[in-house]
Amino acid sequence: MKLIDIVVPCYNEEEVLPYFVKETNAVISTINDYRFRYIFVNDGSKDKTLPVLKTLASRFDNVKYISFSRNFGKESAMYAGLEHSTGDYVIVMDADLQHPPKMFPKMIQGIEEGHDCCALYRAKQKGESKVRQFVSKIFFSFQNKISDVKMPEGAVDYRIMSRKMVNAILKLSEVQRFSKGIFCWVGFDTKWIEYENVERTIGTTKWSLWGLFKYALDGITAFSVTPLRFIAVLGFFISLASFIYIIITLIKTLCFGVEVPGYVTTLCATLFLGGIIELSVGILGEYIGRIYMEAKDRPIYIASDDNFDDNNDEF
Ligand code: UDP
Ligand code: MG
Repeated sequence: MKLIDIVVPCYNEEEVLPYFVKETNAVISTINDYRFRYIFVNDGSKDKTLPVLKTLASRFDNVKYISFSRNFGKESAMYAGLEHSTGDYVIVMDADLQHPPKMFPKMIQGIEEGHDCCALYRAKQKGESKVRQFVSKIFFSFQNKISDVKMPEGAVDYRIMSRKMVNAILKLSEVQRFSKGIFCWVGFDTKWIEYENVERTIGTTKWSLWGLFKYALDGITAFSVTPLRFIAVLGFFISLASFIYIIITLIKTLCFGVEVPGYVTTLCATLFLGGIIELSVGILGEYIGRIYMEAKDRPIYIASDDNFDDNNDEF
């Protein structure tokens, strides 16, 4: 029987986890021919997520967990889960039941059709604020325009992948991970299916607007050097314009003598160029910061506890 690992990153999800397991178990029990195993990753939760996971592990043989020494972020949690997976297929999903487990049969069908991956995108962004919907729309269209990785609008981190694809993802061991991009970057044949967004009923979202902005910036800088090219092109055009202006001014000066009043032009030019230089340095800095973080070569996560060695079951 094929084994399917379900990787679930959890950060402060004590309330929702029992429901998550209950609902997911209900779906799993209707799917024959496969064995399922949960790999929960406790991402340094401040609530009782870890004790809840331990209780679940003592009740169900197929519940495994890894617990981080602090909060490393969802991306690191997903990596840890994938690293510990051994299944023929691996599902990645959120703990908050916003990724409905009832999609499992369709996803499994997709991968059994011969695709390497079956991934989901949101049909309707029900339960999301207008601001978030807007930011998300801009993000997807911008991301698709400027980088090599393309994904449908509303793509989420809910998918099933073949072992082959998971192994490829694990080879990308960058610390600053942007999984949405990584999933696309590794290639492979992905089938996209639609699902209807579900509101989070228990617990709260872990994302602030600022967090989302940083995430979008990560996504753009991780998979594209277009902003760097943009400043080079901008620099070229500004130099060109300046050159033309210099020639005009020189000719005017030679023909008509020195014009003393020049306060406004000087001020405008200084401020404009100052702004452009700040912007360019900022963009450069963004990339240099990323190089710096990667150059440290730190581990993606540090685990403080797990139950993978407990040989009390068949897994
Ligand atoms: N999560 C995590 N580490 C974090 C933040 C979130 O492991 O630092 C997990 C969280 O427990 C959930 C998933 O990532 O399972 C998605 O988080 P959330 O529901 O807050 O995000 P949203 O659905 O609002 O995008
Ligand atoms: Mg959520």
